[in-house]
Amino acid sequence: MSSNSSSSRSFQRRSTVGIPTRCWCGANLTTYAAETKENLYRRFYRCEIAVQQRKSEHHLFKWVDEAFVDEINNLDAKRCQLEADVESYKRSTTLRFQAQDKHIENVLQEMRRLIDEQSKLMAAALSASPVDKSNHCTAGTKPQSSVLNIAAAAIALGTMAWLYVKLTT
Ligand SMILES: [Zn+2]
Repeated sequence: MSSNSSSSRSFQRRSTVGIPTRCWCGANLTTYAAETKENLYRRFYRCEIAVQQRKSEHHLFKWVDEAFVDEINNLDAKRCQLEADVESYKRSTTLRFQAQDKHIENVLQEMRRLIDEQSKLMAAALSASPVDKSNHCTAGTKPQSSVLNIAAAAIALGTMAWLYVKLTT
C-alpha cells in the first residue's frame, strides 16, 4: 500500500469533521501507515472499498493525527457552546425569577390595599350600625342585614389577612 501527498490532497476534497467512522460511500474504514518519504509511517484512515477495488475513486482519506486534532478542537468548540448555553440559561432564569418576584410584589401590594380598604369599610359599618340599632321602631330586616354585611366583611378581611400572611412568610 502506498500513498503520496498529491493524491491525498484530492481525497480531502470532501472532508469529515473529527474522527471519521465511515466513508461517505457507507463502507468501513481501516487505518494504514503511509510509506512515502514525507509521511513515512504516518497513519491515515482509508475507505476499505477504495483500498480493495476502486483506487481511482474519491473515497475517504484522512490523516489520523489530523483527525484527532480536529476532534479535540470540535469537542472544545462544543464545550464552549455548552458553557455559553448554561450562562444564557442562568441569565434567563434569573430574569424570569425577577419578573415573578415583581409580580408577587404587585399582588401583595394589591392585597395590602384591599385589606386596608376593607378595614376602613368595616370600621365605617361598625360605627354606622348603632344608628341602625337605635332605630328599632322600624324593626325589620335592615339592622339584621347590616350585621350580616359586617360579618361577611369580617370573614373576607380575615381570609385576605390569612392569605397575605401565607404569601409573605
Ligand atoms: Zn468509500
